[in-house]
Amino acid sequence: MLTGKNALVTGASRGIGRQIALTLAAAHAFVIVNYNGSKEKADAVVAEIKAAGGDAVSYQCNVSDFDECQNMITALIKEYKHIDILVNNAGITRDGLIMKMSEADYDAVLDTNLKGAFNTIRHMSRYFLKQKSGRIINISSVAGTTPDISRLAYGVSKAAINSLTKQTAVEYARDKIRANAVLPGFVGTDGALQNMSKSFLDGFLKHVPLNEVVKPVDIANMVAFLASDKARYVTGELITVAGGFGLPTPIYGNAMSGNIKQG
Ligand code: NAP
Repeated sequence: MLTGKNALVTGASRGIGRQIALTLAAAHAFVIVNYNGSKEKADAVVAEIKAAGGDAVSYQCNVSDFDECQNMITALIKEYKHIDILVNNAGITRDGLIMKMSEADYDAVLDTNLKGAFNTIRHMSRYFLKQKSGRIINISSVAGTTPDISRLAYGVSKAAINSLTKQTAVEYARDKIRANAVLPGFVGTDGALQNMSKSFLDGFLKHVPLNEVVKPVDIANMVAFLASDKARYVTGELITVAGGFGLPTPIYGNAMSGNIKQG
């Protein structure tokens, strides 16, 4: 349970962030539902949390803007006194071949996914250090460890998030501030489905041993664990939640399966 804890979840108006907000609130955290443009959706998440007996507020901030993040965190600390859990979930993707990728698209992905996480961690640092506690959970991706065609900016941003997570964990461990990353596989949110055909999805699932898209709640449950005291000794970890995506193909087992008598 996260009773008495305040959690800031970036990009919580939709998709995975929305579910993280709902799950943390169900574990009794007070949740700040950050959004950039989708005020109505963020307010709907707050209403859903309140209807279920929890408590939350929405807060607009473009996380890619250093000063806006500082203003948000200063205002939140003034109002709510402490933030104990920071979930850097806000993210975008602009997929495209390297030779066709515009500078603006590359910058937008890095500014949101990577600099956004730096901005919030940077501005939360003084409060976490004063509290001598804090739980930082960065939402990375399997794209940060597994390269793919057309995913340069996104993959680079997520690989860098993995490094940011480890750097933060090492620097802040002595102050009992933990930092971990969750690496989702393919989750069927609006953001992820925007450029995806059914045939591509079917082909992709052949590489997922559990053979399903990840559900937002699978990610949210891992975040809730990392945010809790049950994970008190876990820091600097990159935890993949992807149904086995990326595991080596069991070539020997496949070849032998026809020759093995069961029982
Ligand atoms: P999504 O449905 O597109 O939602 C993105 C969220 O991020 C929205 O709440 C959006 O807010 C917010 N956001 C975007 N830019 C922002 C900014 N500059 N400042 C503040 N908030 C901003 O995305 P998703 O699929 O749930 O993905 C969430 C995270 O999981 C991302 O970091 C993504 O890279 C990661 N991930 C997703 C998948 C997947 O398959 N879906 C897989 C691996 C990793 P507004 O609604 O206000 O624009």
